[in-house]
Amino acid sequence: MTPDRPFPPGSVVGILGGGQLGRMTAMAAAKLGYRCHVLSPDAGAPAAEVAVSATTAPYEDLESARNFAASVDVATFEFENVPLDTLAAVEELAPVRPSAEALRVSQDRAIEKAFINGLGIATAPWAEIRSADDFEAAAARTGSPAILKTARFGYDGKGQVRVDSPRLLAQAWRTVGEERAVLEGAVAFEREISVTVARGLEGETAAYVPVENLHRDGILRVTTAPAAISSALAGEAAGVAHRLAAGLDLFGLLTVEMFVTRAGDILVNEIAPRPHNSGHWTIDACAISQFEQLVRAVTGHSLGDPARHSNAVMTNLIGEEAKAWAAIAGEPGACLHLYGKTDIRPGRKMGHVTRLTPFQEPAASV
Ligand code: AMP
Repeated sequence: MTPDRPFPPGSVVGILGGGQLGRMTAMAAAKLGYRCHVLSPDAGAPAAEVAVSATTAPYEDLESARNFAASVDVATFEFENVPLDTLAAVEELAPVRPSAEALRVSQDRAIEKAFINGLGIATAPWAEIRSADDFEAAAARTGSPAILKTARFGYDGKGQVRVDSPRLLAQAWRTVGEERAVLEGAVAFEREISVTVARGLEGETAAYVPVENLHRDGILRVTTAPAAISSALAGEAAGVAHRLAAGLDLFGLLTVEMFVTRAGDILVNEIAPRPHNSGHWTIDACAISQFEQLVRAVTGHSLGDPARHSNAVMTNLIGEEAKAWAAIAGEPGACLHLYGKTDIRPGRKMGHVTRLTPFQEPAASV
């Protein structure tokens, strides 16, 4: 540990992005005595409500980004579509953790998948599509059915179309705006799991137990911790997450989303170098949450113990579901989290609830 680490209480953690991930990061930072400065284009951003200071400016406004950077001791991001130029401007004045390079890889599905495969880690078969000339070779590589995803700016199932036959590829490409895209084989998965791993400034790591995720319409609905998988498969999934975090030389958090096939193989779907929705359960079921782990990693603390004291089921409260907040708050064992968003819209993540049950080892069904 060098003398300037960990940052002393009162240091300022900058957060690029103002959503609920930033909000929960700021709350964890406050727990360790840090002050947060949030940069976000949205007035009334959920993270700004719980931060000491906030800058409301478009991400492309480099002057505001520089002023933000000059006011912080370290910066991190909670939003994957922060422009790389903005991160570069911030990096001139303050360390950015994880690095702009980790963000560059995860921002683009083609770069991301090439990086994952380059480490010898399997994904679904995929091919990049830049123009209609690529359709035939791409379809031959992925087989049918396949999923067409824009290379950039996709989240929560947006920018994705299922393609049931190569004949429908042209139409699907029009639907995603004829933008550079990735075609990938649709995986008949047995289950979806994810692992969130923290990596500190000395390269030390701490991974949470693999969890099982249920998506509907491309949006995460429920995370169950732990996933009902064998300890061998859990070890393999954790190993994949560790290799990816080390491969990125990442300081901070990485969540790796994976498909488990019927044959018990792991295929990585995507990686996110930031706090992740499938890690929210850690706030209530672990002594050290993913958010605190991120703050610890970027401020040079030692990482906390990722062990869970309880099992947990985290359910997102999406759109109108959040209206049940009072009833949920009254349920024994239910931990309610609301993000301070007043405007209810379909598909919008308004909050989540984590229901705790006593600690049990995973019921291995794979
Ligand atoms: P993504 O935005 O890539 O994480 O996709 C959101 C969700 O869509 C995933 O969590 C899966 O439930 C589903 N999905 C995405 N890609 C595939 C695929 N290649 N095969 C099967 N399901 C997929």
